[in-house]
Amino acid sequence: MTSNTLRDADLSYVLHPYTNLVAHETKGPLIAVRGEGVRIFDEKGQDYIEGMAGLWCASLGFNEPRLVEAATRQMQTLPFAHMFNHKSHGPGIELAQALIERAPVPMARAFFANSGSEANDTAIKMIWYMNNALGRPEKKKLIARKRAYHGVTVATASLTSLPANHRDFDLPIDRILHTACPHYYREAQPGESEDAFARRLAAELEEMILAEGPETVAAFFAEPVMGAGGVIVPPETYFQHIQAVLQKYDVLLVADEVICGFGRTGRYWGSQTFDMKPDILTCAKALSSAYLPISAVLVNERVYEALKSNSGKIGTFGHGYTYSAHPVAAAVALETVRLYDERDILGNVATSGARMQARLQALTAHPLVGQARGVGLIGALELVEDKATKRAFDPARAVAPKVVERAQDHGVILRAMAGDAIAFSPPLIISEAEVDEMIDRFTRALDEVT
Ligand code: PLP
Repeated sequence: MTSNTLRDADLSYVLHPYTNLVAHETKGPLIAVRGEGVRIFDEKGQDYIEGMAGLWCASLGFNEPRLVEAATRQMQTLPFAHMFNHKSHGPGIELAQALIERAPVPMARAFFANSGSEANDTAIKMIWYMNNALGRPEKKKLIARKRAYHGVTVATASLTSLPANHRDFDLPIDRILHTACPHYYREAQPGESEDAFARRLAAELEEMILAEGPETVAAFFAEPVMGAGGVIVPPETYFQHIQAVLQKYDVLLVADEVICGFGRTGRYWGSQTFDMKPDILTCAKALSSAYLPISAVLVNERVYEALKSNSGKIGTFGHGYTYSAHPVAAAVALETVRLYDERDILGNVATSGARMQARLQALTAHPLVGQARGVGLIGALELVEDKATKRAFDPARAVAPKVVERAQDHGVILRAMAGDAIAFSPPLIISEAEVDEMIDRFTRALDEVT
């Protein structure tokens, strides 16, 4: 199809996810046709630095031949096999072992799904199943944070706490609560230190658990760095104080590593960067560098033992997707994980991440930039109308979407986030020179909007 026919066909046939469907009819699509390194190209041949690695996922960039070869080899050998009812296959087994060996805390087993939403939905079901198995059927409530993003299924969209995910979808469902977001820049009281802020949030969590009744609260879900909520980096001591409360009331910690897993925050897992000791860990996205959909749920011994005993009683662990541990996706993920080791991806995050954070910090001199924040190769700029008072622009006049649109014209793809922030999450293979090019292109857009 020519590019005009493709555009027309897009407008005629596609219902786009996360898109203003009215605006789309006039704006039309950006049609990607090929990728190379950290860039994608549209049908006119214009290049764009993918400053979001797609959707925080294409960590090894857009033309890694080793991943293509891994997929081809597996497709030619055995394109499908499943793991239901005692069946198994090499790529799934080896991937499970690779993840358990790399886990940030001792984990017992890995379960596979296809997306971050499915992984978190699975975690929810496991927690409910586990507490029924342990003879405490009332311990089912789940706590997430305001501005959290955990997915779009009925249950995970309920854990998510962003208005567009709830409004008119009749969500959230019951049993789900939201506590404060650890956004120091916005939520701290005047004069409050980061540690005092973290302690206050932990105290508020404890109050919530006590008000609900600890015997009814099952788990706390947390992204190490909150991504879609605006790249919220918690204070250094936040998870230490939160975990003390969770342990006191026997509330499980689920680390949603869908964005942070596999080096994004500078350590292999966000849990290591922030000293989290999860009982359950979910991951997706960079697990396969986004070349094929796959996600995983890692569970510790205690959770696994409860699932096992209940399945023995019932006759089966009644959960799994047709494509759980799809062998082609698993082979690609296994190769991805090997490449992270071989190519010292953490070393690249250290150098290019330091460069990106320094360039973002330098932009705080700009009249629109209220705060620059980030860690490793994830960052954000929060835009404000008044820097001294931190007054935000009226949400109806948010500036971030305009800057992001202009940045696209200058050849860099970024994303406007909740709270008038702009996120940066480039492929983990980005060089320091490419970081500079990305920020230079972006700065031109920022200057034009000012
Ligand atoms: N959890 C987090 C932290 C995410 O950022 C996302 C997606 O961006 C999800 C879960 C949902 O993943 P998916 O879109 O693959 O269902």
